[in-house]
Amino acid sequence: MHCPFCSDPETKVVDSRLAEEGAAVRRRRECLKCGERFTTYETAELTLPCVIKRDSRREEFDVNKLRNSMMRALEKRPVAMDTIETALNHIKHWLRTGGEREISSLELGERVMEELRRMDEVAYVRFASVYRSFQDVNAFREEIERLEKKLAPKR
Ligand SMILES: [Zn+2]
Repeated sequence: MHCPFCSDPETKVVDSRLAEEGAAVRRRRECLKCGERFTTYETAELTLPCVIKRDSRREEFDVNKLRNSMMRALEKRPVAMDTIETALNHIKHWLRTGGEREISSLELGERVMEELRRMDEVAYVRFASVYRSFQDVNAFREEIERLEKKLAPKR
């Protein structure tokens, strides 16, 4: 692939190793022109289901989009990037093994919330507040109350 810094087509692989428990190959590359180094990941492309939006439009599952919305929820929270990637892998694994060709955005959102809940309660509530905003205000309020009870000092 072309160098992402100077677009030169000549790059060489300086290191190659298995990642994600053997599901990916991580390569360290160096540009022969500008000398910058960068990392690429190679993974098998397995079909993921389409996401059915609330207005019935179908959209391809987009892991980058999902990563971005999780990172927004996790902004300034003490959660490592690795933990986010692991959660994304859980979600992708779940999608692949589910065997469905389509999945509703609601179902996907619930699964994302499950992951976030395990990672960071604040991020979970942030995500839930955006995600559930107009459709279920009461459920959200209950969730906040549950969380407040949980985080309140025990006496
Ligand atoms: Zn370069």
